[in-house]
Amino acid sequence: MNKFVLPEHPHCPHDHSQCVSDALSAAEQVCERAGARLTALRKRVLELVWQSHRPLGAYDLLETLAREDDRRPAPPTVYRALDFLQEQGLVHRIASLNAFIGCASPEHTHQGHFLICRNCRVAIELDQSLIHPAIAKVADQMDFSVEAETVEIAGLCSQCREAA
Ligand SMILES: [Zn+2]
Ligand SMILES: [Zn+2]
Ligand SMILES: [Zn+2]
Repeated sequence: MNKFVLPEHPHCPHDHSQCVSDALSAAEQVCERAGARLTALRKRVLELVWQSHRPLGAYDLLETLAREDDRRPAPPTVYRALDFLQEQGLVHRIASLNAFIGCASPEHTHQGHFLICRNCRVAIELDQSLIHPAIAKVADQMDFSVEAETVEIAGLCSQCREAA
């Protein structure tokens, strides 16, 4: 029987600084290709979203930015930066947590499909090929035109189950 090959579990010990630097260089490429400007603030916001594999709320983001700089950026500026990062596909919004998570493969436009641990809040983005075809097929059968297909699956990750 075929087992789904899941992306590397973010809980596994790894060099996270590598994730961050990969994400930032991918972001630069994506923006350059789109002719969009990755300003210092947009880049800093992206870096903060990437501080872990847990979705980060806009409020936490504002707090952190305020702590590192006396001239705290106005909330609308930060929200606009988040909008920009979403438009470029560099972050996904996790509606169930009202938070944002960095995308590891922003080169290809896609909607986010996530497994989200309700205990540690780690969010694992699934490969598009796992869920997208099923949605496309059923939408086609129902003659339904899909506009958004974000999938947020809640549960417990293996580490949190072991710890319980
Ligand atoms: Zn990482
Ligand atoms: Zn993604
Ligand atoms: Zn967990």
